[in-house]
Amino acid sequence: MRKGLVAANWKMNGSRDSNTALLKALVAGLDGGAAPDVLVCPPAVYLQQAGELLKGSNIMLGAQNMHDQQAGAFTGEISAPMLKDLGCSHVIIGHSERREIFGESDALIADKFAAALANSLSPVLCIGETQAQREAGETEATVLRQLDAVLQQVGADAFADAVIAYEPVWAIGTGLTATPDQAQEMHDLIRGTLARHNAEVAGAIRVLYGGSVKADNAAELFAQPDIDGALVGGASLVADDFLTICSSYN
Ligand code: PEP
Repeated sequence: MRKGLVAANWKMNGSRDSNTALLKALVAGLDGGAAPDVLVCPPAVYLQQAGELLKGSNIMLGAQNMHDQQAGAFTGEISAPMLKDLGCSHVIIGHSERREIFGESDALIADKFAAALANSLSPVLCIGETQAQREAGETEATVLRQLDAVLQQVGADAFADAVIAYEPVWAIGTGLTATPDQAQEMHDLIRGTLARHNAEVAGAIRVLYGGSVKADNAAELFAQPDIDGALVGGASLVADDFLTICSSYN
């Protein structure tokens, strides 16, 4: 039985004041213990502040990105050991905004995934097709290519410590959500592909759905057998909405 995971991706949003208000509300709202695990990924500059506000709670801390090297002359970058030092347990790798806006390749994402694991951080690997790829009938091929790039580099056993987020790019921040059936079909494909390499890992790994998950559509997505939670962008910035999403997971 997999435990659910609901993860918040704040993207480039927040301030010291708004972070305090939001995290205090989440800590209070989840005080009785949520059915799923809960992870919050603030911007890197606020990780320290968030870590302090989350101390003593069950909410985990994650980063939105990292460099694939341990240290050195990489001005402006942040390494896995630094994230670990700040108390992160997870790091989002290969978000579509990193792939599209910052040109991250499948190969670089595989390197980052490996570096996260080497530093005892759980990578949350994001994979998903664009609208154009879906319309061209390339949905499955795209997602499998993205997954395979990492599988080839680290092997299936390494996914024991990872999370996968299926995030159709056309659904991110658009208000368009994959139907529960569309999402389930892709989650089944992802888990089935991993199962051909390692059935135990495939059975245990949490595959999250991401793409305009809101308080009013989370429950029907979570009802699907292979959807183990959500990676939430916009709705994670509103405490009541995020708390409702968390409590929708049974
Ligand atoms: C995301 O940023 O990963 C995401 C899914 O965003 P949103 O929930 O706003 O679509």
